[in-house]
Amino acid sequence: VKCIGILTSGGDAPGMNAAIRAVTRSAIYNGLQVKGIYRGYRGLVTGEIKEFKSQNVSNIIQLGGTILKTARCQEFTTPEGRQIAYDNMKKEGIDALVIIGGDGSLTGARVFAQEFDVPCIGLPGTIDNDLYGTDTTIGYDTALNTILDAVDKIRDTATSHERLFFVEVMGRDAGFLALNGAIASGAEAAIIPEFSTEVDQLEEFIKNGFRKSKNSSIVIVAESELTGGAMHFAERVKNEYPQYDVRVTILGHLQRGGSPTAHDRILASRLGAAAIDAIMEGQRNVMIGIEHDEVVYVPFTKAIKNDKPIKRELVNVLRELSI
Ligand code: ATP
Repeated sequence: VKCIGILTSGGDAPGMNAAIRAVTRSAIYNGLQVKGIYRGYRGLVTGEIKEFKSQNVSNIIQLGGTILKTARCQEFTTPEGRQIAYDNMKKEGIDALVIIGGDGSLTGARVFAQEFDVPCIGLPGTIDNDLYGTDTTIGYDTALNTILDAVDKIRDTATSHERLFFVEVMGRDAGFLALNGAIASGAEAAIIPEFSTEVDQLEEFIKNGFRKSKNSSIVIVAESELTGGAMHFAERVKNEYPQYDVRVTILGHLQRGGSPTAHDRILASRLGAAAIDAIMEGQRNVMIGIEHDEVVYVPFTKAIKNDKPIKRELVNVLRELSI
């Protein structure tokens, strides 16, 4: 391998820039050439590719978003689109790819690597933390801290007005942000997709958590078709328990922005450097993860096929501490 291409794809996440910087600098340090591919897989298809030197990634470790931009690319999901992508890669002399993104992006990398003889290395870049085989993903910690800041503020007004707030957070079909956000902000409950078929989480909360002794309550709801979202629960409460003064806040895209936390910057730097180590070792088609503070290589098939389990212990902690 002489030249690597790097791209960010799917939803953006704080820390992606730190990862771009790490991959670029580590590649150059190891004598490799680096090319930045713009707008995810779309840039491979359209040929939006530029050589990256060390200076191209100066002063970006602290920035949210991604300097390479990100996009979703329909064309790359077709064999014809991927053929064009491959031809462009060859034209540019790129002989390995580092893909920073979520589940969908790594699925794309896996399909591409199966069709063409290209080593692909994935980095878990998503605020959702929904990739199997890594303890955490780039952007997750920053998003969690953003949720804390927001919920702390909502708590002030919830208490003053003695209201029941449903706060909706991101996470796709994973409840990590909701559950850990609830624990960290001292919320009364979290409604998460993992348990949506198991129990009626609202009933459980009303029965166990929402007591007369509490003059305000905050419930964090994971956005997901499986939970139905915060609006859905607010409507239910309004109908079934009209005595409660209910409000909804949907945090939305502010969770995806902001300067990455120290944790996310260090994670992104380690994973980025490890991606280049992996390429130098001849690894291919793996996601780089961190488990028990050690770098691990997770085959794409494992990282994307498996649902990452939610720890019951965390659910119990939240329940015990919200009495
Ligand atoms: P996040 O979960 O953080 O939003 P993601 O990486 O899961 O990010 P997606 O929109 O699911 O985001 O995927 C990003 C891109 O990856 C798609 O637009 C597409 O180009 C490519 N991709 C996804 N699935 C496939 C697939 N099965 N085959 C080929 N390419 C794919």
